[in-house]
Order: sequence, then C-alpha cells, then structure tokens
Amino acid sequence: MKAVAVIPKQPNSAHLVEMDKPNPGDVGGGRGVMVEVLRVGACGTDREINNGEYGVAPKGYEYLVLGHENLGRVVATGENVTEFEPGNYVVATVRRPGGTSVYDKIGEQDFTTDDKYFERGISRLHGYMAEYYVENADFLVRIPSAIADIGVLLEPLSIVEKGLKQASDIQERLKIWRPKTAAVLGVGNVGLLTVMALRMRGYIVHGFGLDRRESYLNAELCEAIGATYDSTAETSFAQSTEKYGQYDLIFECTGYSPIIFDAMQALNENGILILASVTGGDRKADHVPSDKIVQMFVLGNRAMVGTVNAGREHFEMGVKDLVVCEAMFPGWLGRMLTHKVVALENFAEAFEILNNTGKYKAIKTYFEVKEI
Ligand code: BGC
Repeated sequence: MKAVAVIPKQPNSAHLVEMDKPNPGDVGGGRGVMVEVLRVGACGTDREINNGEYGVAPKGYEYLVLGHENLGRVVATGENVTEFEPGNYVVATVRRPGGTSVYDKIGEQDFTTDDKYFERGISRLHGYMAEYYVENADFLVRIPSAIADIGVLLEPLSIVEKGLKQASDIQERLKIWRPKTAAVLGVGNVGLLTVMALRMRGYIVHGFGLDRRESYLNAELCEAIGATYDSTAETSFAQSTEKYGQYDLIFECTGYSPIIFDAMQALNENGILILASVTGGDRKADHVPSDKIVQMFVLGNRAMVGTVNAGREHFEMGVKDLVVCEAMFPGWLGRMLTHKVVALENFAEAFEILNNTGKYKAIKTYFEVKEI
C-alpha cells in the first residue's frame, strides 16, 4: 500500500513509500481493527515535520509516515473486538502509552511527563497518511455516519475539548462558576472549532484575527453561529474590552506568543486563559507589565492552562459537539473543509497550500484518500 512519509529532520523530504498492507493480527489479544483511510487532515504540525523542525521516526525505520488528523472505515476486526464492525466510521486518537510515566500506565498518556512520547504521525509511530492502518480498538472512536463527511475535524477539535474540560475541572475550585463571555484569539481551524464548542455551551463568543472582516470566510463563519468577529488590525485585543468587557474565558490559538500578556489582562475575576499554540520560535515579549499581571492573577483568582494532545474522553466530547452543531447549523462545519487534495500521490499540493497560508487562506486542507 501507498503512504506519505518524511525523513525526520530533513527539510522538504515528503515522499511516497510502498509498505505492506497491515492486518488485524498485528495487534495482540485479538483487539486489532483494520481501517481503510478515507480522509487525512494536514495542519501546521505536518508542515513543521516536513520542514524538518519536528518529528521522530519509529524504531527500525529511517522514515516516518505522516498524518494524525484522520477518518476511516473499519474493514476487518480481531476476534476480541466487540465495539466495531466492518463499515463503521472511526477516528483514531494520536498519542499512545509507551513511556515510564504513571500517566502512561493509567491510560492518561496525553498527560505524560516523559520527554520521549509516542504519537502517530508525529513521534515514534507511523501515522495515517496511508491507505490502511491497524489499531487497537481501545484507541478508536466511533463516528456516526451522519457526520462522516466532517469527521476529519474531530482530532483538531479534541485539543479544544481537552482545553475546555481542563478549564471546567480547574473551575471546580469555585463551587459555582457561571461564565458568560469568551474570547477566541485566532480563528483558523482550531479557533473556529473553539468558537463552535463555546457557542454550543451557550457562551457569548468574540472571535479575533488579523484579517479584515470584509469577505473573510472565517469571520463569516464566526457570525453565522452567533459569534462576533473583530480584526486586530483595526482594534487591538487589549482595546476590545472597552467594547465587550472582560472575558470569563479566553482561548488562545494564534501562534503569536506575545498576545498572551494582553489576554492575561483581559480576563475577568476568576477567569481562565487556555493556551493552545505550540510556539517553537524564540520570540520575546517587551514591555510586559508583570507587576500588574501578577497582581491581577493573585487578587482576582485568575488561572491559565495549556492544552495539547487529547485523550479518548475529549474525542468523545468532540463527537457530541459535532453532532449538535450539525443539527443546529447544518453545513456549517463542512464549510471549513476548504482545500481537498485528491489522492496521497498529490502530497506536494498539500504542502504548497500549508506553506502559503496567506495565498490560499485555507481553513482545513485534507487528503481524500478514498471516497466516503
Ligand atoms: C496534534 C497533537 C500533538 C501536537 C504536538 C498537534 O498538531 O494535534 O495531538 O500532541 O501536535 O505533537
């Protein structure tokens, strides 16, 4: 079978490889599920891996098969799989236990404290940019066929769900927390999914991005589900509180780290800031009013937490939000699937889109490996 792989740490090394087709017996205990891949999303992480900045090959291989955002259909199952049958749509989670940390041992590997972690398509395990994969049924999440066409959005959404779950867990400290307003900084794919997840929870949501509002699809999508959109090219995020007041929850996914100091100062008392950007650069923020920020956090009981990678429960939460959103705003999620690349052979087209975000304005670039 065909797959798209890179040689980790070697820039622009994406290429096609030919591999043996896997089979359910590759996973022990009769728990293997063989899945035909239908769609694979491509994101900034894939771009960074192909740029040689990130990524580790599995033991015994010099290449790493890419792809962690996925949707597939079950074709065969091992004898001890009771939860899936051929024809079911599934999405696989990304991180696997493998380290020595206590979190890996209790099935909470998304909270691992090991520096060597195992993520399909990213670190030490092959990913889903292939015609087939085999996985233990424990790591697969069922997708209702009514939302199969947008199921490839579940993995990026799972990161958002983990952030929101952590926020609500942390806020248990308050006994009563009734958040009303939220700001989402950055309205790319992850930001729009956050706007959606917060709207489904009844928040008043304000989205912010650099682009001007006029004829900007991402702004239109914010407004189509009852959120606002403001361009920070016109009004800075710090100034936005004059219009909207301070926010109970802020979700940051811009990739631009200095913005977090403005976000810290735009939080309401008891509010929480969730960070999702994986900022690999070395930017430094100048003129940070650190005394003011520390005082605000201490006197106002504010909190901040990061979110990366997600566990099974976060994927399951995501399925519910996708279903509710599709029922309330039919077709809205599908409008995010802006750039389809047909067949794995055309991987160069996917990287062209990922490397030129300004030109293509893609919200979600994805491979159609096989028709749904
Ligand atoms: C993936 C996460 C992963 C992170 C860092 C993201 O793109 O969605 O699952 O943990 O990259 O490797």
